[in-house]
Amino acid sequence: MVGVTLALLLARAPGLRITLVEAIRFPALAPGEPLPYRPSFDARNTALSRRTVATYRELGLWDDLQTHANAILQIHISERGHFGMARLSAAEENVESFGQVIENAWLGLVLLRALRACPNVTVLDGVTLTGITPGADFVTARLERGEETFELQAPLLVAADGAQSPSRALLGVGADTTPYDQVALVTTVATHLPHDNIAFERFTEHGPMAVLPLPGEGRRAVVWTLPAGQEKALIDCSDAEFLSRLQAAFGKRAGRFIKTAPRFAYPLALTVAKTQAQPRAVILGNAAHTLHPVAGQGFNLCLRDCLALTSRLLAAHREGRDLGSFAMLQEYEAARIEDQLNVIRFSDGIVRGFSNSLPGLTLARNAGLVLFDLLPFAKQPVARYAMGLNQ
Ligand SMILES: Cc1cc2nc3c(=O)[nH]c(=O)nc-3n(C[C@H](O)[C@H](O)[C@H](O)COP(=O)(O)OP(=O)(O)OC[C@H]3O[C@@H](n4cnc5c(N)ncnc54)[C@H](O)[C@@H]3O)c2cc1C
Repeated sequence: MVGVTLALLLARAPGLRITLVEAIRFPALAPGEPLPYRPSFDARNTALSRRTVATYRELGLWDDLQTHANAILQIHISERGHFGMARLSAAEENVESFGQVIENAWLGLVLLRALRACPNVTVLDGVTLTGITPGADFVTARLERGEETFELQAPLLVAADGAQSPSRALLGVGADTTPYDQVALVTTVATHLPHDNIAFERFTEHGPMAVLPLPGEGRRAVVWTLPAGQEKALIDCSDAEFLSRLQAAFGKRAGRFIKTAPRFAYPLALTVAKTQAQPRAVILGNAAHTLHPVAGQGFNLCLRDCLALTSRLLAAHREGRDLGSFAMLQEYEAARIEDQLNVIRFSDGIVRGFSNSLPGLTLARNAGLVLFDLLPFAKQPVARYAMGLNQ
C-alpha cells in the first residue's frame, strides 16, 4: 500500500523514472476493462483519515475508490461493562466525515490500475529484492525472479517492504520490537440494525475492539484485539459460536450480530526502525514504524510520511539536485519524527491504558471517557488525530 502510493505521488513528475519491486504477483488487469471487484465477506479494511482521502482525491482516484468505501460520521468510544462513553460527531466537528473505511482489496486494485497507467513507472512484480549496495552516485539493488538474478541502479532506494523489512536488515539498520502478546482478529460481520455510519471503539476485558461501518446495510468490519493464543478457538469455531462470543464481548450497542465471514489473525508488535535515512536509501511505511491497529493510524501516518518525502524529492528533481542526497533524507527524517513519535505514543498509550483491569484504573478511565464526552475541547485533539489533521 505504501510503496504503490508513493510511486503514484512521484509519478506526477513526468521526468522521474520509478521502478516498483514487489515479491508477490499482482493480479492481471486488462486495460479498459472494469476492475474485477468481487463483493466478499472476507476482505481486510482500512480506515482512511480525511487527509488520506484528500490525497487520493488529488491523485484523481477518489471517484473510483469511494464506490467501495463508507464514511465515518460518528465515533463511539466505550468500555464494556462500565459507564464511561465518549462520542465524536463529524457534524459537531464541522466536517463532512471523520474519514472512510475502504476494503483493502479494492484499494489495491484501484491503485494498481492507476500505477500501470503511468508511463514513467515500471512494475516488477513477482520479483524479490535480495541485496543492496550503496555507491557514490547510485544504489544497486540485487533482484531475483525465480532462478533469474539481475541488478537495478537508481539514485535512491525506498525500502517500503513491511514490518519484517528485509531491506532494513540489508541496509544494516536495526529495529526496536516490543511484542504486545496480542493478536488482531479480523473479519466482516453483519448486524440486524443498519450501521448508521458509526465506528465503535470498544474496550473489552480481552482488549480493544473496533467495529467499523462498511458499504451495505449493517455490514461492518471487526478488528478484535485478543491475548495471543485466544484467537485459535474463535477462528476454528462455527460461525454461530463466533457470533455469540462476539456479541458477549461487544454488547448490544450495534444490534444483533447475524452473519460473519471467516476470521483471520495478525500478531501485534510495535516495531520502530532505529533510523530511517541512509546513504541513498530511506525506510518508509511499516518498515519504518509498525503500530498497534487500535486507533487506525498506521497507514495514515505512513501516508503523511509519503507526502513529506514526495515534496522533497519533487523539489530536488525540479532543481536538478541529487535524489539520494543523505542530507536531504536526514532532513526528511528530522521533519517527520515528531508526528511519528506522537502517533506511536498515542496508539501505544491507548493499548496499555485499556489493557489493565485494576479497579482504580478502570474507574479513572471511565470517568475520563465521561469527561471527555462532556468537554468538547478535550475531544478536538483526538478528533484531529482520527482525521489525520494533527500535522
Ligand atoms: C489488523 C490491522 C488493521 C489495520 N487497520 C488500519 C486502519 O484502519 N487504518 C490505518 O491507517 N492503518 C491500519 N493498519 C495498518 C496498515 O495495514 C499498515 O500501516 C500498512 O499495511 C503498511 O503498508 P506497507 O506497504 O508499509 O507494508 P506491507 O503492507 O507489509 O507491504 C510490504 C510489501 O513489501 C513486499 N516485500 C517484502 N519483502 C520484499 C522483498 N524482499 N522484495 C520485494 N518485495 C518485498 C511484501 O510482499 C509486501 O507487499 C492496520 C493493520 C492491521 C494489522
